[in-house]
Amino acid sequence: MTVRPEPLPQVLEISPYVPGHAPPAREGKVYKLASNENPLGCSQAARDAVQAATAHMEIYPDGNCAQLKAAISRRYGLDKARLVCGAGSDEIFQLLARAFLTAGDNIVQSAYGFLVYQLVAQQSGAQTRFAADTPELKADVDAMLALVDERTKIVFLANPNNPTGTYLSVEEVRRLHAGLPKSVLLVLDAAYAEYVSRNDYAAGIELASEFDNVLMTRTFSKIHGLAALRLGWGYGPEHVIDAINRVRGPFNVSAVAQVAGIAALADTDFVEKSLRVNAEGLEKLTDGIRALGLEVVESVANFLLARFGSAEEAKAAASYLETDHGVSVRLVAGYGLPEYLRITVGDEEGVDAVLTGLKAFCSK
Ligand SMILES: *Cc1c(COP(=O)(O)O)cnc(C)c1O
Repeated sequence: MTVRPEPLPQVLEISPYVPGHAPPAREGKVYKLASNENPLGCSQAARDAVQAATAHMEIYPDGNCAQLKAAISRRYGLDKARLVCGAGSDEIFQLLARAFLTAGDNIVQSAYGFLVYQLVAQQSGAQTRFAADTPELKADVDAMLALVDERTKIVFLANPNNPTGTYLSVEEVRRLHAGLPKSVLLVLDAAYAEYVSRNDYAAGIELASEFDNVLMTRTFSKIHGLAALRLGWGYGPEHVIDAINRVRGPFNVSAVAQVAGIAALADTDFVEKSLRVNAEGLEKLTDGIRALGLEVVESVANFLLARFGSAEEAKAAASYLETDHGVSVRLVAGYGLPEYLRITVGDEEGVDAVLTGLKAFCSK
């Protein structure tokens, strides 16, 4: 037997995350609608800030992200001492796993919830317990609570959830929290919070302010269109922030990302325009796909799930959209939803390209 360095056994059990891909180059336009990115790009002010920051790339970034935290705290009215920044919210999930999970522990998430939570738990040797969703593809509070035991350390809830696009009301989230032991950390992943326009929705600021066991995470990757820079943040009790600070890299957020984030937060015009384009596109895409006779899960985010007759049909539709219409969408079989496709809401042209493509596919 060859002797070689062996990683931890739990590491070999991880199936790496499969990101959405761009359509192959072709004549005419292509639309990458597979990763819930902002079809408008990002704020010009953020781009300018990045350009200016390139003058001093020899200097280490501020490891405390003080100015960025000040900007976030002003924008949302938050206590700076309860903020932590990360290289994407993904990094914050990784850091939570490192700080709170060990072999034999478990996390609880919804069956069709975001898969990154399971990946970070696996690194720490922790199990993931998946609670069945409701028939409407919403997280089921009672099912989640039923899976919590004395080894549960974290309950993750993406709200709104990816890939379903559904959300839980503030009352339902409060009920989930109320049912948890005080030793369990509730992580409210609000990556799509900005898009939600429902009166009964809250991202989690109040809960994370009020309780010792709630952390809310946010990202600059979606509405702010800065996914390439990797920037996210968390807001929660100081003892949780302190634990994350102990396990993170001292310079985990680049200087370029920090200045871009500050500029992006200030550019409310860009955010409003992004919201408007998304609201119009989401409605047109939902109605248009339903008019073709396909089921669409009601979404409050910048993407939706469309249901096909079978897993084969969903796959055929995805490859047809890509090869014949230059549109890439996301297969979600890995989430246990093989007969669905997740489609990001593009700009007007992108939405039209999906509808034209799907219409042609359905009449084949
Ligand atoms: C896109 C997304 C994020 C954001 O991840 P980043 O690492 O900040 O880019 C977080 N949670 C969910 C559910 C997402 O879909």
